[in-house]
Amino acid sequence: MRASSRAVDEADAFRADRPACRFCATPLRHTFVDLGTSPLCNEMVTPERFNQAESVYPLHVYVCETCLLVQLPQYVARERIFDAEYSYFSSFSDTMLKHAEAYVAQMVSRFGFDAGSRAVEVASNDGYLLQYFVQRGIPVLGIEPTANTAAAAERRGVPTVVKFFGVRTARDVLADVGPANLLLGNNVLAHVPDINDFVAGLKLLLARDGVITMEFPQLLRLIEKRYWDTIYHEHFSYLSFTTVERIFDHHGLTLFDVDEIDVHGGSLRIYAKHTDDDSKPIEPRVAEMKAREEQAGHYDLNYYRGFAERVKESKRQILEFFIEATRQGKRVAGYGAPGKGNTLLNYCGIRTDFLEYTADRSPVKQGNFLPGTRIPVVSPDVIRDTKPDYLFILAWNLKDEVMAQMNCVRDWGGRFVVPLPDVKVYQ
Ligand SMILES: [Zn+2]
Repeated sequence: MRASSRAVDEADAFRADRPACRFCATPLRHTFVDLGTSPLCNEMVTPERFNQAESVYPLHVYVCETCLLVQLPQYVARERIFDAEYSYFSSFSDTMLKHAEAYVAQMVSRFGFDAGSRAVEVASNDGYLLQYFVQRGIPVLGIEPTANTAAAAERRGVPTVVKFFGVRTARDVLADVGPANLLLGNNVLAHVPDINDFVAGLKLLLARDGVITMEFPQLLRLIEKRYWDTIYHEHFSYLSFTTVERIFDHHGLTLFDVDEIDVHGGSLRIYAKHTDDDSKPIEPRVAEMKAREEQAGHYDLNYYRGFAERVKESKRQILEFFIEATRQGKRVAGYGAPGKGNTLLNYCGIRTDFLEYTADRSPVKQGNFLPGTRIPVVSPDVIRDTKPDYLFILAWNLKDEVMAQMNCVRDWGGRFVVPLPDVKVYQ
């Protein structure tokens, strides 16, 4: 196992265009995991494009030996990844809506935001979160690069600027509406290719005594739970608390608290303030989280380099399930068409030979095909009509919601399957 991973790194040394760390610019030499090549996970194949070729890009993730930032070098322009046809609408998930509503209630009670404050959300999607501030009479502004989700936000009463976020956008917003008392971003910090420009923009837009909250999947959980399918081209960085603290500190921002939250398989919500803002004490949870990451192996390169072999074993397990099920003549259908599902299916080489179709509630996705694997995406009604023996949950972070909504599967003796961290069949 050691020898083979070393051979991969040696081969990699022949690459002419060695990427550099996006935070500290050290040349990247250590592989975290190499998932081969894959098309962009949110670029659904429409029926019109079914007979056309698709572009594929490397999914080779590195760990920086200097700052330990785990990262996917930018192989694709971000405009191409987050284009106008971006198909992820957060408001189609009940779990996400509940999470957003609870977050808003918590922020208002802890920090006392009111009609005189402003909440600015970076990557505000379709306004699913800011709408709860609007309901409380708190002024908001969304910043969202994808035009179709931003248009949906405006229809919901959430004013939205259609832009990528960074220093330039922060200056524009500051000039237009002034500083942000609450500056939040959920699942965006990991999605930015230029993390220095992004965090410098946060610093610029934050009011003197303002609060930043950012949510991102925690690297520690990705490694522990083997959630390797959360690696795709939109996710440029795989973040630990310790690494984020280092990056924020570099830009004059201090993390003063952290919550562990149960979305996307285990995320962190960090709280940041200006380093010279003395109005908020640093909570003990900060030191506890750093100690836990250090204990897990945060500062040890071998901690990162052992991951690749565990991913290969996961692929073998998933293929075993599909081979066994299809050999017995069972019908397997998928549930959900999330980005991570495409990483999983493409890396494992699962096509309609194993998975007949996948069902998704989002009408934007229905009628199209998954990138790479060309598995059809249908409405959940098709599950009731076709009565598959197994429902393979690609959107595993919503598995409880899916199993409750699709409980009818049990009526005909069907079972639910969750692929990670180990393949599990629910009776
Ligand atoms: Zn680095």
